[in-house]
Amino acid sequence: MLEIVALEKRFGSTQVLRDIHLKVPQGELVFVIGPSGSGKSTMLRCCNRLEEPSGGDILIDGRNIMAGTTRDLNRMRLQVGMVFQGFHLYPHMTVLRNITLAQRKALKRSDEEAKARAMDMLEQVGLAHKAEAYPGELSGGQQQRVAIARALALDPKVMLFDEPTSALDPELVGSVLTVMKGLKAKGMTMLVVSHEMGFARETADRVIFMDGGVVVEEGTPDEIFGAPKVERTRAFLSRVA
Ligand code: ATP
Ligand code: MG
Repeated sequence: MLEIVALEKRFGSTQVLRDIHLKVPQGELVFVIGPSGSGKSTMLRCCNRLEEPSGGDILIDGRNIMAGTTRDLNRMRLQVGMVFQGFHLYPHMTVLRNITLAQRKALKRSDEEAKARAMDMLEQVGLAHKAEAYPGELSGGQQQRVAIARALALDPKVMLFDEPTSALDPELVGSVLTVMKGLKAKGMTMLVVSHEMGFARETADRVIFMDGGVVVEEGTPDEIFGAPKVERTRAFLSRVA
């Protein structure tokens, strides 16, 4: 379970996140929507301290990543898998090596163990046959699935997705969403920022609407998409739908 408690973030004198409380229970998928600049990415990045919170706590399975030593932090960071809009694969390494690298460096897995885990994860995202390919030889959708496999190979307790399909051509979006649905079906705990409202309706347990650095409204997909209570949520949805 991921728990965000009273999270605050300021950049200089600009307050970007204000008193954010959010829970993603074990095995649930929480979907985050909101206008550009509302703080969605910053919130996700605070969850593994890629961005340093100005206040509040982040708990992964009850353990506070804001407490403890640097060593604790590095270990806890590994428990939070992140997938971004861009894929950030190493272009000069094969798919397999992209996935084994962090396992060997951060988890000190043997080459053999890392490869076995990588192949399992490639299987899960439907790309076992591309293990020896280079990222440049793959479509955007395939590269994103490799990025997902790479994150999964580190055995995260929670996966964060920041607009994972926004950089993809429309015909490639489905393959990535299918992989994400599969992950959810396997019980992964997921926090997803995306514009794919259809995916949210089908897959999300809860939907969060953020605006101006605060959580404005939260509910089930039916509640948020079907009968939003707050005018700002309604206005946003009428613009994007
Ligand atoms: P988008 O939908 O466009 O991705 P977002 O909801 O993800 O938007 P953030 O990227 O979290 O929004 O940005 C929230 C606010 O924080 C914005 O006003 C942005 O300008 C500001 N911000 C983000 N990063 C920094 C930074 N490093 N320094 C200063 N301000 C920042
Ligand atoms: Mg963003």
